[in-house]
Order: sequence, then structure tokens, then C-alpha cells
Amino acid sequence: MTDGFTSPADRPASEARAERLRDEIRYHAQRYYALDAPEISDAAYDALVRELEAIEAAWPELVTTDSPTQRVGAPPSTQFAPVQHARRMYSLDNAMDLGELDAWLERVERETAGRPCAYACELKIDGSSIALTYEDGMLVRAATRGDGTTGEDVTINARTIKSVPLRLLVPPIGHVEVRGEVYMPKESFARLNAEQDEAGQPVFANPRNAAAGAVRQKDPAVTASRDLSAFMYQLADARALGIESQHAALMWLGEAGFRVNPDIKTCATSTDVHAFCEWALEVRNTLPYEIDGVVIKIDSFALHDELGFTAKAPRWAVAFKFPPEERTTILREIRVQVGRTGALTPVAEFDPVLVAGSTIARATLHNEDEIRRKGVLLGDTIVVRKAGDVIPEVVGPVERLRDGSEREWRMPAECPSCGGAVWREEDEVVPRCTNAGCPAQRLERLGHWASRGALDIDGMGSEIVSRLVEGGLLHDVADYYSLTFEQLVGVDLGRVKKDGTPQVLGETVAAKLLKSIDASRTRPLAKVLFGLGIRHVGSTVAEALAAAYGSLDDLLAASEEDLARVEQVGPKIAESVRAFADNPENVAIVRRLQTAGVSTAEERRAPERPQTLAGTTWVLTGGLERFTRDEAGSALKALGAKVAGSVSKKTSFVVAGSDAGSKLDRALELGVPVLTEADLIAVLDTGDLVSPGNAGDTPSGAAS
Ligand code: NAD
Repeated sequence: MTDGFTSPADRPASEARAERLRDEIRYHAQRYYALDAPEISDAAYDALVRELEAIEAAWPELVTTDSPTQRVGAPPSTQFAPVQHARRMYSLDNAMDLGELDAWLERVERETAGRPCAYACELKIDGSSIALTYEDGMLVRAATRGDGTTGEDVTINARTIKSVPLRLLVPPIGHVEVRGEVYMPKESFARLNAEQDEAGQPVFANPRNAAAGAVRQKDPAVTASRDLSAFMYQLADARALGIESQHAALMWLGEAGFRVNPDIKTCATSTDVHAFCEWALEVRNTLPYEIDGVVIKIDSFALHDELGFTAKAPRWAVAFKFPPEERTTILREIRVQVGRTGALTPVAEFDPVLVAGSTIARATLHNEDEIRRKGVLLGDTIVVRKAGDVIPEVVGPVERLRDGSEREWRMPAECPSCGGAVWREEDEVVPRCTNAGCPAQRLERLGHWASRGALDIDGMGSEIVSRLVEGGLLHDVADYYSLTFEQLVGVDLGRVKKDGTPQVLGETVAAKLLKSIDASRTRPLAKVLFGLGIRHVGSTVAEALAAAYGSLDDLLAASEEDLARVEQVGPKIAESVRAFADNPENVAIVRRLQTAGVSTAEERRAPERPQTLAGTTWVLTGGLERFTRDEAGSALKALGAKVAGSVSKKTSFVVAGSDAGSKLDRALELGVPVLTEADLIAVLDTGDLVSPGNAGDTPSGAAS
């Protein structure tokens, strides 16, 4: 249930952790509810709450009455007059994924003992709750939720919100309390933040906090300027109006003049509920306002009465929350990875957590400076997310959860792979292992050569590469090309089969690998250049260098000044290429690659021939001796001719070979010049059209 924490097994440790979690949660709840200025994301906050809930579930005697798990929101601020809610304003229990939603649905079905149970599904508007009270059809009070029992009187502010009716459209009916969500449309939020930014004021974290802040303004003119809107979804006492279900309540609200969200669905089955949640997830970004989930409520109010409430939330409703982009976990270790150029990169290793659909357990921390900047310590509770929804990233530590056992991490002074010296150049953030023979570097270099962006040796994954290195079969990239079938078959893959015998490389895989290696011999020069892993030569620079020099030999012979003249190649890259070329070991590898038949020069296309046949259309018919019709066609096209399949008035020439049939007849019929194969050869050799005298001649034997 928790993120990154196994079940809290040890009571004293759980008690201490629960205490720290409560302090931390209280702090963030205050920033969020009272100051409208959260410091961490909702997902990170929710993760802390869930961890506390798990501890409290494991050790019920640890639950305190003031625990944030027992309370809703935050006490009202003293800025506004307090409003005692006649009926408590509850929060909602969360279902963090479809599995939890199913568990809720199953529980409800069990508790309602098989009675027909429909669900009202509504979008969970990400705003601020509000309760509006009407007396005889007139708005008399608006209150925030506060801690659920006491809210704040924000009537003058609510009156400025255009979608809050000041007078109901239905006949006056005494006392009515309506609840819903005030929100700020995404567009207004963007505008507001742009204005804040321009005025040098702090920007709002999200539209929800901006909305909550706007409702709680001292000056109603400011609220009015914030372009708020509201959707209403609840009648505090619907039964008093004779309304018996959520969908009937929503209809009544619409008729009374409130804005009711149009995307509501009454579902009969859990499959329909799922479908609605998935639909909401899909349309989420297209809506003009933010939603953070779907609220599923049992439709029948009679069943609400039966199910009742927990300390915090109704049992007849649940909020299905969209998958969070952030989670908390424990940073266990920072390991140093050695790259192919010797660069040492610290990588965070943490307890596995599910983030945005997949489990992550590692994330790069880039370099030591970045670790200092983020302020993470080993053993910290950290917030992790997926940058751009793909790459795992450590956001930072949750400092207040430290218990003193956390330790600072330092970059080792020696390479963790070979023990070689580590050197950090003055202007660089990355330290490097200076030992060219470092096994970790070698592995990375070999893997890089075989990777898709380089020589693309299909099937040559990092595992096989490391086995081949261990087996002494691979030392450098040229060794790939001397691998034999006999060497590959039987290589121990370092795993055991079900029957306990070691798994070895089989004949089929060996044959496939050799085929892939062979195919890599003819990759373009840019790929070879990139594959060599010359420092600062990425794929784009490799393309530029390949285009400028055309061959590896020419490139390696070029001076630094010459290299630096190539577009996209600065002095730093030129120096690095030159240093590579000056190293005899590198040159030896290049020579061995060349001997092994790896192409190290761009195939030079034959210079284009003058387009002397441009504007002419040719038809080839009958059998030719010197070449096939396709070859003859290509040769004509190389001189700019068009080659057609049938004869028409537009045909310039017909070449008739042996046994030419109807096309020749048609040519003669239309008076199209007919040439022999010998005529064609003369044209192709010289590039000149046949002399007009010849052109009209009937080829020998063809027309008889
Ligand atoms: P909640 O926002 O998860 O859910 C309950 C609320 O949903 C209701 O009170 C209501 O206002 C709202 N809602 C929207 N549409 C609704 C609909 N159609 N029907 C019913 N209710 C609807 O619970 P909460 O108690 O208001 O607040 C908890 C949230 O606040 C969590 O998401 C939490 O992450 C966030 N929070 C964040 C921080 C932080 O530091 N980032 C701190 C505290 C709380």
C-alpha cells in the first residue's frame, strides 16, 4: 500500500516514523489549506498520508485523535468569520488505481447485499469546496469547507462569481444548502500567473490553489478579477426536498440555476464505471478546467443512509485518483556508473515504486554537484517522478522525515570498476576514470559499437557482450569481426536453466549474431564514426564529419584547424578527433576494422551524367542481348529519359529487341522512330541521340 516501504514491522521504529510523518503532513496541510501555497505535489503529499495510514493500520494503538488521517482540511483562518456547518463537509476516500476502485466496488456490493446499485460518476473538479446557503431562494451565505465542521464565511467573495446564482430559479422553498467546487479555468490561471510574473509577484502552484486563494481574498474586487467559476454537485439535505438519488439531485441543481458539470454518467456495472474513469483520463487534458480524478457515488440516498460515514469521508463515495506522476521512496544507495569515455555518473538506487504506469528503482543523479544542489542524503525519503513521463528522476528529499541516520554521499576518488585514478577537469562537472584499459569503459565502448544508433548489431545485447569480454573473446570493437561460430556456440550466459544446468549460447543464436555482425560491415560512415565513441562526437557531429570527409582515412589525416572548419565542429571536438587519430592503438583498431571489411568510406556515387535525353519518352520491347529491359531502362533514365510501358503519340523512341510484338506494330502505325539494340547501345555510350537518318530505319527483321 505504501510507496517504497515494506510493511512496518518494528513498533518503536514505526512509532517514530509515524510521529515524523504527522509533523510533516501537518506542515504541508497548513501550507496547502491555510496559505494556498503548497511546497510539494499532491502525489507526494498523498504518498506521505498513505504511509502514515499503513502504519496506523498495522498499529491501531498508535492512532492519535489529532492525526491528519482523522481530519479533513485545516482549521479556518481567523481572517474570516467562522461558519458552523449544519452538516459536516466530508472529504473523500481515494482509490489510487483501478484495483483499489474494484476493491471499493466489491465492498459496496457486499455491504448492500446484492441490492441493485447504480453509481453516479462525476468528474473530480480540482478546485476548492464551497457551501452555498439560500433562504427563500436568496443567497445568504457562502462558506469554505475548513476542517469540515467549521468553515470560513466568504459570502462577499462568492457573490462575485458569475456562476453562483444570487437568486434561485425555482419557487422559494425555505432553507437550502448546496455544495460544490469553485475552480479557476486553465486559461484564466495562465493569464493570472503571467500577470503575477510580470508584476514580480509569486506565481501560483496550480489552478486549484489559485482558486482557493481567490475565494479567500480580503478584497472582493480581487476575487472578482480572478475569473472564477463553480460547478455544484450536492444538496446538503436532498431528502428534505423529496429527492432520493444523486442523479435527481443534479437535475434539480440544474433547474435551480446552478452550473452542473455536463459529463455525468449513471453506471450500472463496475465495467461501466471503469470505462468512465478511462474516458475521463483520456479527455482530461482537453477540458478547459483541471480535474484530478473521478468521483463515484452510490446513486440511491437510501443506501447512503445505510452505509454512513467514516471519521473523514462517506462510505458511499470514492475518488478515483488519476495515476500520480510523483511518489516517495527510500534512497538506498548511490552507485557510480562508468561510461565509455570514462565519465563517472552517480545513479540513485531506491526501493521500487510504481510511477505513471511502470515500476522504477533507479534514476541518474547526473553528477556530484547535482546531488549537492538537490540536497539528497543516503537513506533519505525522496520524491521521485518521471520527467516527460518517461525518464525516472529524483525530485528531492523530504528533509523533515530524517531521523539522523542519513549519510552524505561523496564521489569516490578511484574508479569503482578498475580502481584507476579519477580526474575532474577544471571546467567540467564530470570526473573521469583516466585508465583507458578500464573494464567498465571497455564494456560500454563495445556495447555502444553494437547499439542501434551505431553499427546496429542486432541481438548483441549488453549481457552477451559482457560474457564475450569475460570469455576473452572481445577486447575492442575490431574483435567483433573475428568471432567465429565455434567460439560463440556454448558461451556461458551466466544463468541457469530450470534443470539447474548453465544456460549457454545456442547454435541458432550464434548464427544470427554472425549474420548481424556481417550486416554491420556495410553501415554508413557516420555510424562507424559515432560507433568509435570519440569523445564529443555524437551522432549529429558524426554525420557532419562523414559528409565533410567521405572516408575515415581522410578524416584521421585532417589537421585540427581543418576539422574545426567543418560546420557543427568546434575547436573542442576538433581537438578530440585529432587526439583519437594520434593514438596508435586507435589507428590499429581502425586498420583491423578495414581489413575485416568494415566500410570506412562513403560509397561515392558515379558523377551524374548530363541529362541529354531529358524530355524524351522511350518504350522498350522484345528481348535484348546485352542487358535486361530494366537495366536498359535505368541506363536511359540516368540520361534523363522517361521510360514508358506502352506506345502512344507521345512516345519519342521504341527500342525493339527480338520477338517484339504489338508494341512494335503500334510504333510503326503511329510513325514512332524504332531503334535496334545496337542503336540503343550507341545512345547510352555517347549520351547522344541517334542521327535522324538512322532513327527512322526499320530494324532488320523486326518489321517483316
Ligand atoms: P480531495 O480533494 O482528494 O477530495 C475531496 C474533495 O473533492 C471534496 O471535498 C470536493 O471539494 C472535491 N470534489 C471535486 N469534485 C467533486 C465531485 N464531483 N463530487 C464530490 N466532491 C468533489 O480531498 P481533500 O480533503 O479536499 O484534499 C486532499 C487533497 O489535497 C489531496 O489531493 C492532497 O494531495 C491535497 N493536498 C495537498 C497538499 C500539498 O502539500 N500538496 C497538502 C494537503 C492536501
